[in-house]
Amino acid sequence: MAPRTSPAPAPLADRFGRVHTDLRISLTDRCNLRCTYCMPAQGLDWLPKPELLTDDELLRLAGIAVRRLGIRTLRLTGGEPLLRRGLPGLVERLAELGAELSLTTNGVGLARLAPELKRAGLHRANVSLDTLRPERYAALTRRDRLADVLAGLAAARDAGLRPVKVNAVPVRGVNDDELVELVEFAVRGGYRMRFIESMPLDAQGTWDRAAMVTAEEVLAVLGGRWRLTPVGRHGNAPAEEWRLDGTEHVVGVIASVTRPFCGGCDRVRLTADGQLRNCLFATAESDLRALLRSGADDAGIEAAWRACVAGKGPGHRIGEAGFERPARSMSAIGG
Ligand code: SAM
Ligand code: SF4
Repeated sequence: MAPRTSPAPAPLADRFGRVHTDLRISLTDRCNLRCTYCMPAQGLDWLPKPELLTDDELLRLAGIAVRRLGIRTLRLTGGEPLLRRGLPGLVERLAELGAELSLTTNGVGLARLAPELKRAGLHRANVSLDTLRPERYAALTRRDRLADVLAGLAAARDAGLRPVKVNAVPVRGVNDDELVELVEFAVRGGYRMRFIESMPLDAQGTWDRAAMVTAEEVLAVLGGRWRLTPVGRHGNAPAEEWRLDGTEHVVGVIASVTRPFCGGCDRVRLTADGQLRNCLFATAESDLRALLRSGADDAGIEAAWRACVAGKGPGHRIGEAGFERPARSMSAIGG
């Protein structure tokens, strides 16, 4: 008799036909840096521990996502996900679900953890790094940790995480004179460089469109140094990619504000306190933690999840009349 295989889950689709296969999970809202475009110097009011999903709760939701909803990629983020106690053990349990596992981190502490995370089943890493100059790094993140991040990047690569991407948010007058240097650094190190347009998601609410360096500006600067050949997007990935001078090196630009990719969005987000968000800019959330803690069965949680995604809007509308910032900022959502 042929072995029984479980039927493929029904697609997690919204009313515009977008199918969601990518789940971004915030492991904590806390952070050990204070990037100026993300949060204020004093930090934020962190979530009290009882409000956070436990490992078991998180595993249960991730299991429902993969087995019942067709999620294929789990992206761990925060806050700073490396601050989550017992992270390698959690990664090992998540890896058993069989989805692709990636981590977005500021890289502080990655030098020590990268080999263990790789052994636990992590596949990829995205490390945020906006400048290569120690003093500038200290001013931008309000912490003097550049050397740790550089060591973390190298450790991630040497541990065999692939790819290791470097994410930078260029800000006018702050680090926009380093775009070429950052790409050269990534090429030398075997990393993949990506630039992200800054978004109105900082906790202080001081985002200024004029300070945002647009994708077009980034490409103009890089185009002055390399011949850029477009390679498009990988599936629904947010980054548009360009190859440098016919080499195998690729640079990505995430133009969330000036060239939104909402029409192809395949992401859902789970906050560290168990709230499901159908968009980074959503102003409403579905309380999966309450469902879990009230004893809901998997079918009930699946139904709530599908209802949340079904209610997803067409796009974020930054810059349009009526745009409303979400109550949570980037680090509290899980950017
Ligand atoms: N702490 C980790 C890190 O920095 O990679 C993970 C969380 S952080 C919120 C995820 C990404 O969001 C980082 O690459 C960071 O640069 C980016 N980010 C934070 N605030 C942003 C903003 N206002 N606009 C655009 N990107 C932002
Ligand atoms: Fe922390 Fe990441 Fe926000 Fe920087 S961008 S303050 S590292 S959460």
